Amino acid sequence: MTAADTPNAAQAPLISVQGLRKSFGSHEVLKGIDLDVAPGEVLTIIGASGSGKSTLLRCLNLLETPDAGHVWFGGQDLMAPETNVNALRADIGMVFQGFNLFNNLDVLDNCTLAPVTLGKLKKEEAERVALDHLASVGLADFAHADSKRLSGGQKQRVAIARALCMNPQIMLFDEPTSALDPEIVGEVLEVMRKLAEGGMTMVVVTHEMAFAKNVSDRVVFMDQGVIAEQGAPEKIFGDPEQPRTREFLARYL
Ligand code: ADP
Ligand code: MG
Repeated sequence: MTAADTPNAAQAPLISVQGLRKSFGSHEVLKGIDLDVAPGEVLTIIGASGSGKSTLLRCLNLLETPDAGHVWFGGQDLMAPETNVNALRADIGMVFQGFNLFNNLDVLDNCTLAPVTLGKLKKEEAERVALDHLASVGLADFAHADSKRLSGGQKQRVAIARALCMNPQIMLFDEPTSALDPEIVGEVLEVMRKLAEGGMTMVVVTHEMAFAKNVSDRVVFMDQGVIAEQGAPEKIFGDPEQPRTREFLARYL
């Protein structure tokens, strides 16, 4: 895999990670990660539990502070003292396994809270934007629904709509379907597939191999804190080079 194989490779990367290291105590969880994400690219990260996938994702928006290395977002060094981390975070949407909705707010208020509180949009404008995004995730009729009464799939679709309301430049997903009952995983993956088709830059940690294979432009396989292998999905799933990639994928056959 060369940079020339990735979509939009001619453009500057939206995210560039170089030499990223992170330890918790004496446990080195990320052991020198180099990774570029091109604008419009859909990258999936696969790998065993504990391999460092979430930590890598969390370093991309400084939910974790790297010990060494650099993360650039749109050419800005996230670790530079003059960088406004909050402004940058507003451009990076994140969706977690556990939804993290505000259960005391209805669906619409969940979506408008951040853009209004951060002064990005006026209330009426934020509501218009939110209704558009709720429609795009199939929840047009749920604007005034009680968040805590929604199904897991509906909650996760609200979480996606809410993130989109900030008009992010990139969306990060950390196992967005892992907490869902199998029969509703598909409705969330479908929303993500549409988002990818619409040109959103996405980094998706997932165990949904069909999604990685069919939707992503590039698959990164992590093993014990390093990128063990990466490439086009046809290559990773069809003809992986590393024995450890083969062993990992064999568990999903
Ligand atoms: P993955 O998402 O691939 O399952 P993680 O990035 O969550 O892996 O975790 C990698 C390793 O780092 C695991 O051994 C985990 O226990 C450890 N770890 C993650 N976050 C913390 C933390 N905040 N404190 C201590 N250890 C952590
Ligand atoms: Mg994880």
